[in-house]
Formats: sequence, structure tokens, C-alpha cells
Amino acid sequence: MAKTILFGGLTPLHELFIKGAVEGFGYRAQFLPNPDNESLRVGREYCNRGMCNPTYYTVGNLIKFLKEKASQGIPVEEEFLFVTVGACGPCRFGMYETEYLHALKEAGFKNFKVSILNQSEFSSEGDFKLTPSLVWALVKAVWLADIVRDLGYQLRPYEVERGSVDREIDRVSREIYEALKGRAGVLELYSLLKGFRRRLEAIPFDYTRVKPVISVIGEFWAHTTESDGNYHIHRWLEEEGAEVRPEPVAGWIDYQLFIETEKIKRQMKVKGFSFDRLKRLLAVRAMAFVFRSLYQLFRAPFSFRPKALPSQKLLSELASPYFDYMVVGGEGHLEVAKHVYSVKYKKAHMVVSVKPFGCMPSTQSDGAQVKVLSDYPDSIFISVETSGDGEVNVKSRVQMKLYEAKKAADEEFKSLLKNLKVSYSDFKSLFSLPEFQKPFIKLSSNFIGTASRALWANRLKLKSSLETVEEVL
Ligand code: SF4
Repeated sequence: MAKTILFGGLTPLHELFIKGAVEGFGYRAQFLPNPDNESLRVGREYCNRGMCNPTYYTVGNLIKFLKEKASQGIPVEEEFLFVTVGACGPCRFGMYETEYLHALKEAGFKNFKVSILNQSEFSSEGDFKLTPSLVWALVKAVWLADIVRDLGYQLRPYEVERGSVDREIDRVSREIYEALKGRAGVLELYSLLKGFRRRLEAIPFDYTRVKPVISVIGEFWAHTTESDGNYHIHRWLEEEGAEVRPEPVAGWIDYQLFIETEKIKRQMKVKGFSFDRLKRLLAVRAMAFVFRSLYQLFRAPFSFRPKALPSQKLLSELASPYFDYMVVGGEGHLEVAKHVYSVKYKKAHMVVSVKPFGCMPSTQSDGAQVKVLSDYPDSIFISVETSGDGEVNVKSRVQMKLYEAKKAADEEFKSLLKNLKVSYSDFKSLFSLPEFQKPFIKLSSNFIGTASRALWANRLKLKSSLETVEEVL
């Protein structure tokens, strides 16, 4: 193909790895710059009225890019092809393709081509051909980006030397990009991850810092992007002293497969059994199994520290008192399910739900979250709407809740010290030993905060070190 494929809309890590995977199949690929508020302005200028925020940001970002290139004398309609994910609704997502074409025409690019990938069927329309081996390469790329990103958010808050984790992430990202471009197999990628772990082992970490764990959920684009589109909420929370749990893109794909399975099961119930339906059911189930196993495999080099993909069945059960899982559109029941999951299974001190301005499914979820909050009064939950402006207001609301989360993390840690009858300075002196400054020390799953998890998992060593000191004295 002569044209360069343009794509965007995820995080910089995902986009780099996707570029590698696509280039491995002989395409020329380029990801768009991160969307900013100028993209939003351009989007509002050319899109129809009443769209949701992600539409304005993503469509505006493409037009902004094309206008810049056109002003440099590049014939963009011959040079580029835009590839994006689409669906048939039921929310505004179903109108993305039309909206892209409409806005491109308004901006003077009426012959510009857009190719749509169907997210639930893994098929494509237009000039970009989605073959099974390309799907597999894209899955590897996205999973790797999820894992590396998750690790970054888990480790950075505890690094002793600021910037050391990001330095290693930059290095492994370049390696993974090159490997994907060379169509590396799973084993080669696995060994790159092992090399990444070895280099992380050389960095010192301080796990005595007590920090609240914050889960960022919400509408898919709004909770995934690391741009003006959500006020860079992940990195901002980290700077405010939190340990952030971002949502993996793999969870979204797992959800699509789960819904597809449920749809086929319902068709069998209502329309009757057929071998074709059975074949489709088995194929989707097998795909989900293989994809989840690959995710597990990529977690393995890091002692399974990156967050596991929760069972979709469990999530649908957790959401069921509040939201029917067959009501699809946006994140469907997932926003509610992830909130309940975080509180019930003690996964985070606080949940931030990011809702883009004009998002119908997130508005529905927010209604249901009120009932979740009355059933789980201990939950520290905040839903914020991102509209491009209003950043100061959103951040100051989150800061107020963050104060509560910091207090909760502190209380969890102090009561653990009290129960174990040890002091903070005892804990600090044990964790100043080089073996406890390693990135992948033992962590318990009985607590939320990383300091508490580290203290509980290593309590016996702490006790025995204290006894040895007493004997010497
Ligand atoms: S989920 Fe909300 S923000 Fe996302 S495309 Fe649908 S309406 Fe827009």
C-alpha cells in the first residue's frame, strides 16, 4: 500500500507498539500527536453539534494534523489513510465514521479515506485489511503496552531516583517497538520483558512511602487517554502523591468478547440451536481464552504484579443489582462493576470515574453509582465530567476526595503497625536494606496500600530482625 496509515486515540505507549505491529506487515504507519485543547476547538468547529467530547477531540485531532501537513504542501488525501475503530452504536460511537467523513468534508478534505475496524467482529472496511495474523500482532502490541504502562504506574511512586522507571520504560518501549516491527513471536517478546525486569531490579525503591491507591475508571476513551482530554489525570494524581491504577485496554477487548458470547447464547435460546451458532460461540470463547492466557503470560516476568484482568462473569454479577449487563453502549455495566469490584475486593482506596461531556452511557452509570454508594457507604468515589474547560474545578474536587483517600491509606497502615506492635522506624530500617529496595518484593493481597502490603507480607522477617537486635542488646 502506498498510503501512510494514520491512527490515534490510545496512550503514547499503545500507539508506538501498534505502529510497530502494523509496520511489521509492510504498511507505513504514523500515529497522530496526543490530542490537545486545540484539537477540541477544531473538532467543535467542523463536527455536528451535540457530539460527545471524545468525538470532538479525536476528529479535531485528525483535522488539525491534516491541516498542518497540507500547509506544508503535502497532498494529504493521496498521502494518508486514517484507520479507526467503529461500532454500530448504540451510543454516539456508532456515528464516529459518519462524523469523521462529515467533518473532513467540512474542513476541505472530502476525498480523504477513513477505514473502520469493527471492534466486536475484528473485521475491517476500507483499504486496510485486518487479517488474523495482523489481529494477533495487534493483540500482542496492546497487551504489552498495558503491562508496561501498569508497571510504570505501580513502580514510579516508589522510585528513589526520580525518572529512573521512565528511563527504563523508554528503553524497553524502543526494544518492543523494534521487535514488533520485526514480527517477533511471543517467546522473543517474553524474553524482552525478562530483560526489562532485570534492569528494573537494578533500580532502588522505597516502599515505606504510604500512598493511597486510586483506580481511574469511566468512559473508555476518557479513562484511557493521557492527554488534555482528561486533564492528564493519571500523571496529575501521581504528582499529587497517589499510586494510580489505570484500566488496561485488554479489559475492554475482553468485555467485547464476553458480550459477544452472551449474545450468541441468547440467540441460541431464542432462535434455537444451530451448528453455525455453536461454531461462533466456541470460536469467541477460544479467542477470549487465548487472549487472557497471553495477558497472564506477559504478567509472569514481573511476578504477576501488573493488575490481572478480572473475570467478566464476576464483573457482570457485581453489576447485576444496578445495571443489566446486556445494556451495551460505552462501558455498559463496567463502570458500575469496576466500582463495586474495587470496594468489595479492596483494590483501591478511591475510585475516580471520568465522564466526557455529552456521554450518554456514563450519565446512565452515574445514576446507578448513587445506589452503589448507598450500599457501600465506605467507598470514596468521585465522578468528574471532562469538558475541555473546567480543569481547575475538576482537579479541586478530586483533591478534596484525595485527602480522604490519603487519610484512609494512612489509617490502614497505622492500624497495621499497631496490630503488629512495631514502629514506623522499625519498618523503615528493615526496608532500607538493599533486598527490600528491590522492585518486586513480596506484597500481600490482604491490604490496599503498597506500604501496608509490603509490611504484612514481610512481617515475619521484620519480627525476627527485631528479635535479633534485642538479643544483641
Ligand atoms: S461512550 Fe460516551 S463518550 Fe464514548 S462514544 Fe459513546 S457517547 Fe461518546
